[in-house]
Amino acid sequence: MVCAPSPRTPVYRPRRPRESPLYRIIERYFPQFEDIYPDRYEKRYGFWRPVIGDVVRKFLRCGDLHFGFARVRCSGAECGHEMFVPFSCRQRCLCPSCHQKRTLLLAERIAQRICLPVPHRQYVWTIPKRLRIDFRYDRPLLGRLVQLAWETILDTYREMVGNNDALPGMIAGIQTFGELLHFHPHVHALVTDGVFLPNGTFRQLPHENGTGSNQDDSCLSRFRASENDPIHDRWRRKVFDLLLSEGKIDQETIDQMTTWQHRGFSVDRSVYLPKGDVAGLERLAQYMVRCPLSLARMTRVTDEGSVIYRAEKTECRRFPEAAAADLRSGPHRNFQVFDVFDFLAELTQHIPVKGEHLVRYYGWYSYRRRGMRAKQGSADKIKIDRSQTRGEGTSPSESKSPHLSTWAALIQRVYEVDPLICPRCGKKMKVVSFIETHQRDVIEKILRHCGLWEGPLRTLANPRAPPKRGTRPDGDEPRELQLVLDPEFL
Ligand SMILES: [Zn+2]
Ligand SMILES: [Zn+2]
Repeated sequence: MVCAPSPRTPVYRPRRPRESPLYRIIERYFPQFEDIYPDRYEKRYGFWRPVIGDVVRKFLRCGDLHFGFARVRCSGAECGHEMFVPFSCRQRCLCPSCHQKRTLLLAERIAQRICLPVPHRQYVWTIPKRLRIDFRYDRPLLGRLVQLAWETILDTYREMVGNNDALPGMIAGIQTFGELLHFHPHVHALVTDGVFLPNGTFRQLPHENGTGSNQDDSCLSRFRASENDPIHDRWRRKVFDLLLSEGKIDQETIDQMTTWQHRGFSVDRSVYLPKGDVAGLERLAQYMVRCPLSLARMTRVTDEGSVIYRAEKTECRRFPEAAAADLRSGPHRNFQVFDVFDFLAELTQHIPVKGEHLVRYYGWYSYRRRGMRAKQGSADKIKIDRSQTRGEGTSPSESKSPHLSTWAALIQRVYEVDPLICPRCGKKMKVVSFIETHQRDVIEKILRHCGLWEGPLRTLANPRAPPKRGTRPDGDEPRELQLVLDPEFL
């Protein structure tokens, strides 16, 4: 039996999800977007991907106490402070909160546990606009693209050191978005600025500016690979070969593009991190795995749901227009005004398919190599973080129902509580029970008791009539008394 805290019990509410502008737009317009997609967007964005609906529905429940929560209690004998912590959706590339948590955790792991204490360099590979569209319709090609980026590194580094057994380490992130949410597939990576020999010795590459570091901006241009640079040339050839073998382009197109003055291929390696710059690695890793959408840059949402979204950098540049079929650049600008449905189309195209790896590890940093090193030597490298699978100090027996694995799964869904520190006394808080999504009556009773009940949500299962012009996204019309139960969410 769950005891409701007294109405005065302070409740942990990290955010109010229903108040976010993104939530309001999605909650209001997404059903209609799904309806009009085949006619209005299928030609430009490809067939509707069911993963989009799945991710959006989970996002709408994220951080919302109305869909269940964990009750956590301070372990301090004197304190006994209690809070509610809602479940997180843990969805990538849409939920800014969950994506950001994932980014911080992954970047910390990359910088502190995967990258070795050697110099690194950031690489960014891009391709011409003419070729980008093929990756929108064929997402598995994105994985091939990042593999090609790795091959350019491996071939070039081995050639530079004259040793075919030498291995660089590389961690690469696939990004499909540009600053204004337009489709812009490219690869970011952290690469060792040298190679590991089979005996584990690291050999740094000779520097192009003859020094050990180049953080001075004046040096940057030297580190953007020129058209004649072997790595640039390899990149261009490999991408052409891939698309030719996949039947996406023909030889005539390649010949034509090869004569263009600005071919659109680029390999940037301007950012160098000296050995030991863990903070720098973490910062670049965060950038590499960031969310396509920045809530801070959604500067305005009008009554009709139009969105004004600004670019990351202030100077005006040319970007493709929203929902442009050919991805050609529009006028110089540093913002985009989106029709609400174009905004949803541009945003949701970046949602990856389930199980798609957006971060990949190569060479000395590959899973296999890391596993081999862990076996050979330091066992501490394969520490198992048990805190992610079982709440410290919690006892499944405290709750009547959850089976062990269910308990573990629920802990993961509220992983922001681990470790959660008591705001009153600073001691660790323990999960004492879970109120699950299907316990609707209990949820309502507790939230009403605490004055937190906001009413049930309208279901997303039944698309609604088009919104009236001039009504606010958070309009006052009555909400249907219906909840959608998602078996996967239980
Ligand atoms: Zn979320
Ligand atoms: Zn406490």
